[in-house]
Amino acid sequence: MKKEKIYVTKTFMPPFEEYVEEIRDLWDSSWITNMGAKHAELEEALKSVLGVPAVSLMSNGHMALELCLAAMHLEGEVITTPFTFASTTHAIARNNLTPVFCDIRPDDFTMDASKIEDLITDRTCAILPVHVYGNVCDVDAIDKIAKAHGLKVIYDAAHAFGVKVGDRGIGSFGDASIFSFHATKVFHTVEGGAVCYSSPELGQKLYELKNFGIMDETTITGIGANAKMSEFHAAMGLVNLRYHNANVKRRQAIYNTYTEHLRGISGLRIPEDTKKPLTQENLPGLRTPSDTAGPLTQKNYAYYPVVIEKTLFGADRDEVAKRLAAENIYVRKYFYPLTSDYQCYRELLPHVDTPVADHIAASVITLPLSPSMEIEDAVRICELIKTCRR
Ligand SMILES: *Cc1c(COP(=O)(O)O)cnc(C)c1O
Repeated sequence: MKKEKIYVTKTFMPPFEEYVEEIRDLWDSSWITNMGAKHAELEEALKSVLGVPAVSLMSNGHMALELCLAAMHLEGEVITTPFTFASTTHAIARNNLTPVFCDIRPDDFTMDASKIEDLITDRTCAILPVHVYGNVCDVDAIDKIAKAHGLKVIYDAAHAFGVKVGDRGIGSFGDASIFSFHATKVFHTVEGGAVCYSSPELGQKLYELKNFGIMDETTITGIGANAKMSEFHAAMGLVNLRYHNANVKRRQAIYNTYTEHLRGISGLRIPEDTKKPLTQENLPGLRTPSDTAGPLTQKNYAYYPVVIEKTLFGADRDEVAKRLAAENIYVRKYFYPLTSDYQCYRELLPHVDTPVADHIAASVITLPLSPSMEIEDAVRICELIKTCRR
């Protein structure tokens, strides 16, 4: 057995000297936070890397989302997905808005746009879908529905750094998109995040909200919070950006290794299967998949989700996770439980049926994937998974 533990992600660390070099001038200026030079430089750089009109850096992805919703002065219900990280639903609830859970598509696990309209009431103010695992939501359908009903659209793009549809940056869809630059994400600033937007008024509001509403020494324009990104964090981002393309390439190599070794196994659904029709047998009662993540989509290889259908594979995902853990390999059940199943929301909200999300949450594991992972470890993981088959 190999001694070294393998986790679902491993934080990318740039060369130490390079980071030290990047922060050297902070000692000359002693300007280490409050929208300094690195902050400005990173915002500029991200506009072009992400292909978006404007970027507002934040202390983390959650505050980006929370303040983005606050900046829009929303009231009422927000249609969202329960198949996500806690942050998405919490950001809605913490703004005194009511999350309304929409089911997901069985093929790419993003919000099922065909089920949105049934959930719209006269209290609905916005739609908050998630580009989960970096998979592109059905942006056209969502946009159409939002326009028809006068709703805002805010995308949680925390998983989708660098994803492009054609030459269009993923962060340019909707009224705004948020990214997370947490240490475990594809691109990171240790902790950090950003809102991408196009309306200058929204940008102004975001600036107020992340800096106590302070406009100048004597003008406080609103009840703001503090969600500023420090110069040290921005510096980490500037260094990491130089490695982003190489990191995505290394991720792609691991990703392709998984696909090569796991394809065609009955009972396992891997990302490339999302374009194939599902059978009644392996996923009951579900429709044929759509294909918005078409050939032009540039992926970021953020996660490698595998859906294990026990009826066909023999073992369930918990058995597979246990088998791997015995070899010091730690997969994650992203996303289980659904946020709608958290105690705090069960008590608060009426129950909405989301059978597809229920099924996926109960049968998915995400495999280890990071730029520093070895190909041979990916192969070994596949072999171990195959030994679970009965
Ligand atoms: C990571 C994540 C967030 C929150 O980002 P932080 O930077 O950790 O605050 C929000 N939504 C999703 C889907 C995430 O995965």
